[in-house]
Amino acid sequence: MQDRWKLATKVIHAGRESNQAGALVTPLCQSATFVFDSAEQGGARFAGTEQGYIYTRLGNPTTAELERKIAALEGSEAAAATASGMAAVSAALLANLSHGDHLVASNAVYGCTFSLMTSLLTKFGIEVTLVNFSDEAAIKAAIKPNTKVIFCETPVNPHLDVYNLDLIAAIAKQHNLVSVVDNTFMTPLLQQPIKHGIDIVIHSATKYLNGHGDVIAGLVCASNEQMEVIKYEVLKDVGAVLSPHDAWLILRGLKTLDVRLERHCDNAEKVASYLEYHPKVSKVYYPTLKSHPGHKLLGPQMRRAGGVIAFELDASLEESIKFINQLPLFSIAVSLGDAESLIQHPASMTHSPYTDEERSRAGITDNLLRISVGLESVEDIIQALEGGLDKLHINQLL
Ligand SMILES: *Cc1c(COP(=O)(O)O)cnc(C)c1O
Repeated sequence: MQDRWKLATKVIHAGRESNQAGALVTPLCQSATFVFDSAEQGGARFAGTEQGYIYTRLGNPTTAELERKIAALEGSEAAAATASGMAAVSAALLANLSHGDHLVASNAVYGCTFSLMTSLLTKFGIEVTLVNFSDEAAIKAAIKPNTKVIFCETPVNPHLDVYNLDLIAAIAKQHNLVSVVDNTFMTPLLQQPIKHGIDIVIHSATKYLNGHGDVIAGLVCASNEQMEVIKYEVLKDVGAVLSPHDAWLILRGLKTLDVRLERHCDNAEKVASYLEYHPKVSKVYYPTLKSHPGHKLLGPQMRRAGGVIAFELDASLEESIKFINQLPLFSIAVSLGDAESLIQHPASMTHSPYTDEERSRAGITDNLLRISVGLESVEDIIQALEGGLDKLHINQLL
């Protein structure tokens, strides 16, 4: 990990360029196209013999600042801003997979990443094998002569299993694979996959990076060589680029990333410890807990555990749903990384694209709940959970 305090400065200053007006805050360049001084200049920009902007789908000064900043934070040579986290996942995969290629991915991944891999990509003749990434032998056994890419996210939604990035990078190097890691749950302030030898890092910037729940966005960080393909072969033609206005909002959100994340982590650690000993909670999944299998990678790989916690109530499906409906303070919503504390029911919400069998294999039980711990006072968050848990089962006694 880079020094936390260096990163806390970089979220504010990295990637900035001076502007004509001397504005402290990066001006929003809300323009679809850019005017050339002459036809010759336009020709030179298209030919690549002169640097400069052409059209916002190919590049925009506001978006470019966001790209320089995330590259500086993740330690990559370059980055691309995309219309959503899923556009970032798609761009990274489409840039590195062709008809007849094979992809190895973790069997636990974000719901839409799962359906992208298992349904859309297979339509284009790309094979996928999903395996448990905690099992080194299983990953190695899944690799075939046509395997090109290895993909995972860590810690992974919703049980927060942590996969060993050093190991995944080593396997990728040994078999000449491109390694891709979704770093959404951590952000570069808590984990830097490229430092562990991973090739491509992707983000849903919708979550902690923006942090205010008002933008859908994604980012891909990679080498200059990879970025040529991701930006100028995939994103240019697929068109899933970020709007400059949304880039500007993320630049604003990023300035407070370090302070926000520290609060998210402080709150989540306390909430996880509180839930762990509650008699109506049968299991808590959060890597700071000694009972969590990811605990040993805290420190060497992830500086802190982030703001997402999953837990199982000692309750039926109906009671779990009722618990959510009655819970004060928490908003019932998917997503994470917002100021507001959120709660969702994976079996009926984020993991509903799974079949019953896939859900049970992934351990998504009916009483599993996922919370994104917000920035409110932790006393209020715990009090809200306490109130909700107090009510649980009570109706049966009446
Ligand atoms: C939300 C999320 C995505 C998808 O991002 P969008 O911005 O919603 O498209 C991908 N991966 C993870 C881990 C996420 O949490």
